[in-house]
Amino acid sequence: MNEPTDPQPNRPLEYTAWSRDGWMFDQGGVVILMYHKIAPAPATTNLPALYVDPGDLDRQMAELNGAGVACIPYGEAVAAIGMGRGGFCVTFDDGFRNVFERALPVLKTRGIKAIQFLVAGLIGREDEWDRAIGEPPQPLMDAGQVREWLAEGHEIGAHTLTHPHLPAIPREQARAEIFDSKRRLEDQFGVPIRHFCYPYGDQDEATRELVGEAGYQSAPTVAFGTNLPGTPPLALHRVMACDAPSPLRKVKRKVARLARMGRGYPGR
Ligand SMILES: [Zn+2]
Repeated sequence: MNEPTDPQPNRPLEYTAWSRDGWMFDQGGVVILMYHKIAPAPATTNLPALYVDPGDLDRQMAELNGAGVACIPYGEAVAAIGMGRGGFCVTFDDGFRNVFERALPVLKTRGIKAIQFLVAGLIGREDEWDRAIGEPPQPLMDAGQVREWLAEGHEIGAHTLTHPHLPAIPREQARAEIFDSKRRLEDQFGVPIRHFCYPYGDQDEATRELVGEAGYQSAPTVAFGTNLPGTPPLALHRVMACDAPSPLRKVKRKVARLARMGRGYPGR
């Protein structure tokens, strides 16, 4: 249960998904949680870690609220890093429609404001970059859903136009992905786009330079860790919020994956 009237600061985080990383919430830094798809993982996915069940999202938010860890909207959280104000914020990569459908009600109930990093060239379409590696396609939010997301008080940021590996493409192409996604989202939704997110967390010095030049104030990576004063704003750390309520479930998933690959569980 959420306990807004009687938070218990420093209550240990017992939920399995946090117990490993719980120490970070006590450091006075900003923990940026990274989510992708809010849905049960389909049996055919090779990337189950990108799915979090809506019930587990609710449980994770309730536990952080209950432990007295402040949830700060992303834009404020980034500004808070330099001031040493601790807390957590919630980020969703890619703009999946299941986030709109399944996460939005949870965020509303828990009073949490989040940011979605949108692939500006694929609004209302599918995650074509995932299809290329054989993942079951998932629909992305359309423009109307993005507007509703904003109307609920949530933020949006840019996640390029087409979700490429930025350091691997020509610089002029990377420049267009970084600059044009900002411009396109600003034109389409009428809000300033101040934050960028690197697809796959892939970035190098040249990429960060372009992101700074485009006028973004922050850009999270997928590098694990909390954010303390001194963490570079264009290379922020994040914590992958996994759907891992029990080790047993993890083992079951591994067995299912190996079975799909035509292999048995090691040792059997
Ligand atoms: Zn992405």
